[in-house]
Amino acid sequence: MNGQNRSMTEPDVNPPARQAAKPLSGPQKALHKLGLVRDIDLALHLPLRYEDETRITRLADAREGEVVQIEATVRASEVKLGGRRQLLVTVDDGTDSCVLRFFTFYPALQKSLAVGHAVRLRGELKGGFMGWTMMHPSVQASGGALPTALTPVYPTVAALPQVYLRKAVAGGLARAELAQTIPPELEYENGQYRTWNLREALSFLHHPTPQVALATLEDHSHPAWQRLKCEELLAQQLTQLQAKRERDRLRAPVLLAQTQTQTHAHAPLHEQLLAKLPFALTGAQRRVCAEIGRDLARPVPMHRLLQGDVGSGKTVVAALAATICMDARWQCALMAPTEILAEQHFRKLIGWLEPLGVKTAWLTGSQKTKERREMLALIASGEAGLVVGTHAIIQDKVVFKNLALAIIDEQHRFGVAQRLALRNKLAPQNEVDDAGNDAETVLEPHLLMMTATPIPRTLAMSYYADLDVSTIDELPPGRTPIITKVVNDARRDEVIERIRAQLHQGRQVYWVCPLIEESEALDLSNATETHAHLSTALQGSGESGGSPVLVGLLHSRMPVAEKKAVMDLFISGQMGVLVSTTVIEVGVDVPNAGLMVIEHAERFGLSQLHQLRGRVGRGAAASACVLLYSTGEAPRLSETARARLKAMMDTNDGFEIARRDLEIRGPGEFLGARQSGAAMLRFADLLTDTALLDWARQAAPIMLDRYPALAEKHVQRWLGGKAQYLKA
Ligand code: ADP
Ligand code: MG
Repeated sequence: MNGQNRSMTEPDVNPPARQAAKPLSGPQKALHKLGLVRDIDLALHLPLRYEDETRITRLADAREGEVVQIEATVRASEVKLGGRRQLLVTVDDGTDSCVLRFFTFYPALQKSLAVGHAVRLRGELKGGFMGWTMMHPSVQASGGALPTALTPVYPTVAALPQVYLRKAVAGGLARAELAQTIPPELEYENGQYRTWNLREALSFLHHPTPQVALATLEDHSHPAWQRLKCEELLAQQLTQLQAKRERDRLRAPVLLAQTQTQTHAHAPLHEQLLAKLPFALTGAQRRVCAEIGRDLARPVPMHRLLQGDVGSGKTVVAALAATICMDARWQCALMAPTEILAEQHFRKLIGWLEPLGVKTAWLTGSQKTKERREMLALIASGEAGLVVGTHAIIQDKVVFKNLALAIIDEQHRFGVAQRLALRNKLAPQNEVDDAGNDAETVLEPHLLMMTATPIPRTLAMSYYADLDVSTIDELPPGRTPIITKVVNDARRDEVIERIRAQLHQGRQVYWVCPLIEESEALDLSNATETHAHLSTALQGSGESGGSPVLVGLLHSRMPVAEKKAVMDLFISGQMGVLVSTTVIEVGVDVPNAGLMVIEHAERFGLSQLHQLRGRVGRGAAASACVLLYSTGEAPRLSETARARLKAMMDTNDGFEIARRDLEIRGPGEFLGARQSGAAMLRFADLLTDTALLDWARQAAPIMLDRYPALAEKHVQRWLGGKAQYLKA
């Protein structure tokens, strides 16, 4: 023991044993909060950086501002009372002297710094003209052996002192079971890294020798890092593969597209809907419909992501899938993340399907009890073939008679927990009795998820490896590309001119105000102000010159009925300008809207900007998007804000936008914690570790087939209870 853990200046000087009687001490709770529960969790908690405590510096050789470790003898010690109470200690190492300053101190510390004591100190040296000083150095008795390895500094929280955490990690590392799980024949072939096994790698990363090139630790290119990344990626691929295989064992209703000859009285809904559409499907729409149709016809639950840029026409694909389901006499549910969006789908689908005789039910959180009860009855009896709604579909006591297809729109807006809830919810509730009898006939619904935020290939390969993907890579014909302009906020008046011009042509305008995360109230005042300003500025700018222009306001705090009233006016064309916070972000479809103005565009994320822009350009007439930016106090925009706005000007292509977004933000943020659950990759980087990812993808199926026990052990070690999240 080299004594590095005996610092007395840390707030928590009690060894954990003293608190063993209590259920969980503060630091223990903090450990749990950080997810550091099992020995392996602790062993995998890697340092943020390292401190070199392997050397003693002589004060005479030290430089101002340097963090140093010195050994010195206490010459004087006094508690100064005037002003702020402080402990002042003068030490001398034989080459020079230094004054230590403590504003918080305990008797134990004073004792260890008694005159004549030899101490080892570590802290940042400041050199005033009065000589060297150190503020709150760490203090330990002099003379213990110096550590031979660098001292790790771990990511932690206030309630968990570094010293405590170091001990916990060292203990976890010593106890953790780290036997090799990857069979030698599957090892990643890379001359240097093969020699590092997991225990060596972890021991090294926690306590590297001082000679190591720190750069290779920082950029994670060191062989010890390579080992961790390989193992982590393999664990992730194994989980995805297991999930896929588990799903392949489940059974789902076979939903065959019917043709006229097979039915008697009526043509199937599917054919009727196709015949009734006011447009022909694009090639891409036909292709994805076929892909979905093939899945539905199999007795295995579909697990498919339908991705297509904003405006590419996903809704009609969903409707066609729904008709196949209903033609086969099963129920279909469509879930959207917001009420406005659910409402839009509801309208559209009703417009298409009710004339064909489909009974539709509607479920949201804001519904009146009586109406809800009626809807629940329709759903339970099976009378409603199609159920549209928000989370209410999963949160409430909704019992379907025979649900066979669940469609989730804008799936990225739902969290992992919600997606899990959905899958559990959708698991059949009626067929199995308590004893689990008749398990063979339990049928799971098919699942179709839709998103306008395409997933870049590397992410699709890693995070969504168990998902089948269909892509609409073609917009309906006759769309004129949206022109995007980036404009300084100082030129707001010119933008208002453009709005006038749009209104004169009888077209409509969106004006989106930013979300200010810290303050919903500020957010609102911003939108309200803009609304008032535009209302005045646009007086008399109506179509025929003099008629009044209706300028509406929409924000998330409004009662649902009011929101709906505003939306209705805008959808029907009576309202010329809609000022809103980001509530319109997804899915709203008003083809007559020709201009989208986004205020403080620099505050929005790239995919959000793209989504918002996608609200215009839905008809044949030319449309534009104006990104107003303001640098505020700063002389210029931040690097990333500029990169985002530039990407918006450069391209209208959602896939290119997604690629750039991933580049700007990195996969962690791109997916977002909500999206990825607790199982984000911690060590591997999908942008740079593609070779390792390829290896893991190839190794996973072989490992699962030939070494199932090792595979299981590997997944448990790396993901423990989190594996569940990866399957959502
Ligand atoms: P998104 O993929 O963003 O959900 P929507 O489904 O809302 O897009 O479709 C956007 C608009 O394009 C809608 O008005 C829709 O009716 C229309 N649309 C969809 N498919 C076609 C098509 N093949 N030809 C012409 N218009 C289409
Ligand atoms: Mg949509």
